[in-house]
Amino acid sequence: MIITIKSDTPKNELDEFIATLEQQGLKIFDIVGTQKKVLGLVGDTSCIDEREFLVFPWVEDVTRITAPYKKANRQFHPHDTIVNVGDIKIGGNEKIVIIAGPCSVESEEQIFEISEGIKEAGAVMLRGGAYKPRTSPYVFQGLKTQGLEILSKAKAKYNLPIVSEIMSSDKLPEFLAQVDIIQVGARNMQNFELLRELGKINKPILLKRGLSNTVEEWLMSAEYIMSEGNNQVILCERGIRTFEKATRNTLDLSVIPLLKKITHLPIVIDPSHATGHWELVEAMSLAAIAAGADGLLIEVHNNPQKALSDGPQSLKIKKFAQLMEKGKAIAKVIGRDI
Ligand code: PEP
Ligand code: MN
Repeated sequence: MIITIKSDTPKNELDEFIATLEQQGLKIFDIVGTQKKVLGLVGDTSCIDEREFLVFPWVEDVTRITAPYKKANRQFHPHDTIVNVGDIKIGGNEKIVIIAGPCSVESEEQIFEISEGIKEAGAVMLRGGAYKPRTSPYVFQGLKTQGLEILSKAKAKYNLPIVSEIMSSDKLPEFLAQVDIIQVGARNMQNFELLRELGKINKPILLKRGLSNTVEEWLMSAEYIMSEGNNQVILCERGIRTFEKATRNTLDLSVIPLLKKITHLPIVIDPSHATGHWELVEAMSLAAIAAGADGLLIEVHNNPQKALSDGPQSLKIKKFAQLMEKGKAIAKVIGRDI
């Protein structure tokens, strides 16, 4: 970290400032210029919020050199993290994992029909929301406990592990018993209390990128989970808010190669929430595979017109099966399997 100090800073104040930093285990190097003085802080700066330094009137500028996330940082953990769900592996150069299913669990018949279809097409995990974070409190909020029970039945019948979203930590016992990957939705990416609780369990977490969050904020949220001991974090890009209204969100596919560089955590792409339109989902899925995604999370419904949430972005089972065939071909080109 580099701190630029104004030249007329009183010596006693600066000495006191440096002593406080040294007490925190940091080594301080200074360069004295004609106009300014520059302090270089060497050591573990992850516990420092650099903005706090700006409280001093004689601090002109602060620049962070090392990212504030440590456990999620590839610099300190060069090997890819591979998250295991039974015999399914997510990350590294393992098979690209396809997770599919409806936005919401609506009934046993619906989940069974979708499970059968996605399994036949090659999906290896089933997604379905039981607790739904809806914008309006007046619309369908999910089947809750009953929804998780339906997912469990489908898991037993079709041998498909389950991904489902948690909204509050008081529901952890039922998620621990029935869900294989716990999803943190975009709206809860910065629910730090929830993240900390998820850090204390031994279960993979799929952490979606927040509606308008930067990559660094997203990785700091991963850090909240990992700092409590749970390293099984999968990042999921689901589009971010921009000025563009033609798509529901703007899919930031460039995060795939970027995240591969700066973090060792697996990255999954959700082309459904990113685009909001079923017609755009196939192209974005193929692009995500080509760009190196470790998995896809795709909304599939047996009858999108009747879906209780996110029908317009849901693929019909047949369309999903076609996407899978194309996906396998693209994966082969880049030397991976689905
Ligand atoms: C979902 O997966 O159905 C969902 C609500 O996703 P997001 O948090 O990305 O909006
Ligand atoms: Mn949805």
